[in-house]
Amino acid sequence: MVDLLRAFLLAEINMRVKDKEFKKFIKKKAIQKKVKKLASRINEDYKDKNPLFIGILNGAFMFASDLMKEVDIPSEISFIRVKSYDKTDSTGKMKKILGLEETIKGRHIIVIEDIVDTGFTIAEIMDEIKSGEPQTLEIVTVLFKPNALKKELPLKYVGFEIPNEFVVGYGLDYDGYGRNLKDIYQIKD
Ligand code: 5GP
Repeated sequence: MVDLLRAFLLAEINMRVKDKEFKKFIKKKAIQKKVKKLASRINEDYKDKNPLFIGILNGAFMFASDLMKEVDIPSEISFIRVKSYDKTDSTGKMKKILGLEETIKGRHIIVIEDIVDTGFTIAEIMDEIKSGEPQTLEIVTVLFKPNALKKELPLKYVGFEIPNEFVVGYGLDYDGYGRNLKDIYQIKD
């Protein structure tokens, strides 16, 4: 009986994704609470501004879906994908942004991201969007690793600041798996 209880409790905290062990880090309730807070700030800040949200696939699909359910002002949403190329520059891999078809000029843009780590990915996305001359441009991200950041970024809406450890769940993957997890898990040492 005690063994069964222990197994149940461990299964509740631990998660195996492919060959790696993770432990529960941010529970779904805390995420949902944070998503509501972020959405309510956006609802306030963007009243009458008709913002265009741009979600970054694949990682931001779950956050974008939850966030948009809490956004109650007139707004649009679209999604883009970032494709890495082997050709390298000083920042590492060159990236190409796919799917940006909406007119950006004069719009209030909010980019929806899953996690900002070094910031290189989002910085390239921001540069590309800026070239379309938006009126304003902000980022909303669930997770931010301040100790990993290598770029100056306007991070106006941040869910959780987290340590520099690998996480999965809530859209984030490990080698393609784990995106479906409702909670966020951190890698075990
Ligand atoms: P950055 O360009 O900011 O270093 O990283 C951006 C991308 O790397 C994120 O959009 C995400 O796909 C991936 N990434 C960074 N840190 C993590 C992490 O802890 N877990 C997972 N699953 N992906 C991460």
